[in-house]
Amino acid sequence: MLEIKNLKVSYDKVEVLHGLSLNVNEGEVVALVGANGAGKSTTLRAVSGLVRADAGTITLDGRRIDGASAVDVTRAGIAHVPEGRRVFAEMSVKENLLVGAFQRSDKDGIARDLASVFERFPRLEERQIQMSGTLSGGEQQMLAIGRALMSDPSVVLMDEPTLGLAPLMCRQIVKIVRELNSQGKTIVLVEQNARMALSVADRAYVIEKGEISVTGTGQELLHNPDIKKAYLGIA
Ligand code: ATP
Repeated sequence: MLEIKNLKVSYDKVEVLHGLSLNVNEGEVVALVGANGAGKSTTLRAVSGLVRADAGTITLDGRRIDGASAVDVTRAGIAHVPEGRRVFAEMSVKENLLVGAFQRSDKDGIARDLASVFERFPRLEERQIQMSGTLSGGEQQMLAIGRALMSDPSVVLMDEPTLGLAPLMCRQIVKIVRELNSQGKTIVLVEQNARMALSVADRAYVIEKGEISVTGTGQELLHNPDIKKAYLGIA
């Protein structure tokens, strides 16, 4: 469904992705794990049209999306839940959610999706007129996910959704990932918390210094001695 081939990306002429290739099949949860600065977020940003590829191709259902604008990528069915949530602090919860539907004109569909986001996250419904900057970290993460869902995506890219959250909230995020996936969303999950990501993922890729070093099922990587040592804190 989503295929990245030989992707190269640079910031200020410094190349950070050196020909990265991966693929995501429809209905999968695919995790990208790796150290700080390995290039996980950059991979997601390249898919979303937030950074330009120097080389390589990105296709969604066989159609090239590299070079497309972020708006067109959203229209094509890919939503990005950015690292650090990036909710609009001075806007209400409901306004933030509606921003997620900015590229749509189907009013009935938008209303239906808003109702379903509120059903999934009752806390957001309770707080829909509250300024988003006053939400807790976990609530802001739910809002960021809800906002992504408002574009009615087929693929959801999630960048570090558990970062800085308490264990209980992390478990809740895992549950949400599983639910969204069982309801048909394809998910690409970037996580520092490799154990969590691998336990929820069908397949995973380890990114090291801008390249894929290892790939396999989540379970294979969880039991791979090198991965255990490098990313799971087990000697
Ligand atoms: P992290 O978990 O720390 O975000 P990551 O694997 O997601 O790590 P990226 O954020 O993709 O890594 O960063 C890859 C490399 O690109 C790093 O060396 C980083 O310093 C650099 N980089 C990221 N964003 C920028 C930017 N806007 N300008 C310049 N360099 C950047």
